[in-house]
Amino acid sequence: MISVLDIIHDTMVDGPGFRTSIYCAGCPNACPGCHNPLSWDIRHGHEMSTEQMMAEIESDPFANVTFSGGDPMFQPEGFTELAQAIKSQTQKTIWCFSGFIFEVLLKNPRQKNLLQLVDVLVDGPFVKSLRDEDLVFRGSSNQRILDVPKSLKTGNPVLYEFNLGL
Ligand code: SF4
Repeated sequence: MISVLDIIHDTMVDGPGFRTSIYCAGCPNACPGCHNPLSWDIRHGHEMSTEQMMAEIESDPFANVTFSGGDPMFQPEGFTELAQAIKSQTQKTIWCFSGFIFEVLLKNPRQKNLLQLVDVLVDGPFVKSLRDEDLVFRGSSNQRILDVPKSLKTGNPVLYEFNLGL
């Protein structure tokens, strides 16, 4: 189960191409200037099962998937179960946005489990003083768009190359 704020179909702002974005409730990061402080409290969402979310995701055969929030890494078990279903039942790629940085997620076994099922991680808190409206798919310049399989292989963050078609 995941506490979900909203599911948006065919968004183009949460990664390349059309994507189904799962916006979860719950975020411990409390970034000053956060675009959605209402998402901080996990009680603001409604519980959805993996099956219910898969029905939404599979209703669009062309869209890939993005986990956002709130912070998906605040509910790692629920998102891990969902990511396992996506990877076993579809060919869809998964982008995940998190206020935690890659190096911190690696140290938490629950969050690392989820990371291992993600294709691209946009990491780090939103930092108001580093905000740049020209950035694509991220709000501030400290945030990184990482190729997760490559980063896990080397143990160091590897930037995602946009020509891979994910
Ligand atoms: S990680 Fe995202 S949702 Fe959480 S406080 Fe920071 S900007 Fe807001």
